[in-house]
Amino acid sequence: MEAVIFSIATFFSTFLGGLLAIKFKDKLHAIMCFTAGVLVGVFSFDIMPEIIEQVKEHNFDPTGVMVAFVVGYMIFHVLEKSILIHHAHEEHYANHTHPQVGILSAIALAGHSFMDGVGIGLGFQVGKSVGILVAIAVISHDFTDGMNTVTLMLINKNTPRRAKWFLLLDSLTPILGAASTLLFKMPPYFLVLYLGFFGGFLMYIGASDILPQAHSKHSSLKMIGLTVIGLLFVFLVSRFV
Ligand SMILES: [Zn+2]
Repeated sequence: MEAVIFSIATFFSTFLGGLLAIKFKDKLHAIMCFTAGVLVGVFSFDIMPEIIEQVKEHNFDPTGVMVAFVVGYMIFHVLEKSILIHHAHEEHYANHTHPQVGILSAIALAGHSFMDGVGIGLGFQVGKSVGILVAIAVISHDFTDGMNTVTLMLINKNTPRRAKWFLLLDSLTPILGAASTLLFKMPPYFLVLYLGFFGGFLMYIGASDILPQAHSKHSSLKMIGLTVIGLLFVFLVSRFV
């Protein structure tokens, strides 16, 4: 049940991120830098230590976990870049727009957000502290999920009204994902595979998606400092929960 309560917070962070993206397009880099630190921190200070502990306790083969990590790392990358490849080719054609590219991207993001919710739910199946830290990671980066949903819709010439409907969808899917995990209980080996998979997913979003996006226009020491603060924040939280 805790998983569903935490996932409700993701609803607000996604929605807020989307609304702010409509209002202040150019001032969101700072939040993204901080979030990147949070994501890398949750993997390093919480998920990875938990994997090591579980592997030792149950004598699991660590290779399977690392394969799951790589799959988690690549899955969103492949999805995202294949949509972007389409974008790149768009420039070769005469002026025409494809609102459905925006819709397709927004649906891919909603699928990703569903997995965010599943992540929170399975985190709580591993244990309370993993659940809480995964929830922190998801809540903070869902803010950028909301921003991305709106941005992808608008740059592909969808109306703001339609963008808001997809934002609503993207805000609701984590709750559905978290609720779905109340229906089953994962055996320990699958939970550790999930930890690897979700760890790869967070590392990709943090290190290869949000961080480069945050620095795409303005890089400064302040921005780098915010990422370090995000890392320290998670380090401290992980010592106490
Ligand atoms: Zn997400």
